Amino acid sequence: MISSLLPTYSRAPLSFVKGEGAWLIEADGRRFLDLGAGIAVTSLGHAHPKLVQALTDQAGALWHTSNLYHIPAQQALADMLVEQTFADTCFFTNSGTEACELSVKMARKYFYEAGQPERTEIITFEGSFHGRSSAGIAAAASEKMTKGFGPLLPGFVSLPFGDHEAVTAAAAAGNIAAILIEPVVGEGGIIPVPDQCLKGLRDLCDEHGILLIFDEVQCGVGRTGKLFAHEWAGVSPDIMMVAKGIGGGFPLGAVVATEKAASGMTAGTHGSTYGGNPLGCAVGCAVMEEVASEAFLADVNRKAGLLRQKLEGLVADNPDVFDFVRGAGLMLGLVCKAANTDVLQAAYAQEVLVVPAAENTIRLLPALTITDDEISEAVARLDKAAKAVQSDG
Ligand SMILES: *Cc1c(COP(=O)(O)O)cnc(C)c1O
Repeated sequence: MISSLLPTYSRAPLSFVKGEGAWLIEADGRRFLDLGAGIAVTSLGHAHPKLVQALTDQAGALWHTSNLYHIPAQQALADMLVEQTFADTCFFTNSGTEACELSVKMARKYFYEAGQPERTEIITFEGSFHGRSSAGIAAAASEKMTKGFGPLLPGFVSLPFGDHEAVTAAAAAGNIAAILIEPVVGEGGIIPVPDQCLKGLRDLCDEHGILLIFDEVQCGVGRTGKLFAHEWAGVSPDIMMVAKGIGGGFPLGAVVATEKAASGMTAGTHGSTYGGNPLGCAVGCAVMEEVASEAFLADVNRKAGLLRQKLEGLVADNPDVFDFVRGAGLMLGLVCKAANTDVLQAAYAQEVLVVPAAENTIRLLPALTITDDEISEAVARLDKAAKAVQSDG
């Protein structure tokens, strides 16, 4: 008999009832060190006092009015994002998937209004992840996500990751509206795209008048030690998808774009009932106020260095279990030699939470507020987990 919850997830036998910073407390009282942060979402940890305050203040005042009216918190958050990024304008969504939908619509509309309606194709890369909507799965084009859900939404050209010649050839075809890429591939295995590749894509887009879309749903909002990951490469997109960390655990996403890229999106061309709702935007403002500060980001970078150094030691001490570390900032992947699912299970037994990813990787995406002591404790627990995997194998 089917469970009352649609069985699309295979869940770990854990039920958490409370969160405190980098810790999650199980119903039975066990305290787990959370290096997953709800998949890079609880960027300021669980129950951060400023976020609790922002949400409860807003909840006591007003929950929802719809976008038929001005929403002060939404305006404030848009102003902050525009102030802090390449972008001139912002639309709020409830999720990363919805940000993908709008990014694709925006790029196509731009060329339609520019008198080039034949430019509808979006170049994407194998191993990427952009969400689970029809456009999201067509963009990622992985059979695992698309099989059985046909007809596949047309208009996406999926190319091998890192194949410069294929991108150059496809970009010259004349039917391309945009190139869509994650600056640090998340679900695909925590793979940073080299700076020179992002620069190369920017140049290619400029040469052919193509729009560049960065999906920073997972790598954005301070995760890599810059407010947005592409800042490391010194290049800007025309459109960027944001979600996960921006809401700190409240469902919130955004598309930010340049005035030019957004120029086709006039009144009535897009909308959302909940998107930019007062509750989400109040929390989003509180997240941005914390994260978008030089001191905060400097501390993320310092802690990222510490975690990375300790993980290199962990790999060296457990060479049969781990292969190497990769990633950026506090978005790190441990590429495993043992099955990553075995490492995940062993980590549960040590009361430390990590997230599996493709390429036999486990992901570490802790709260950006994790302390040095918690980093040491986390790596000590992962070491015990590795030793357990080793002795079982
Ligand atoms: C999680 C994710 C998405 C989808 O976001 P949802 O909020 O789950 O819809 C899109 N792109 C990337 C890179 C992601 O990590």
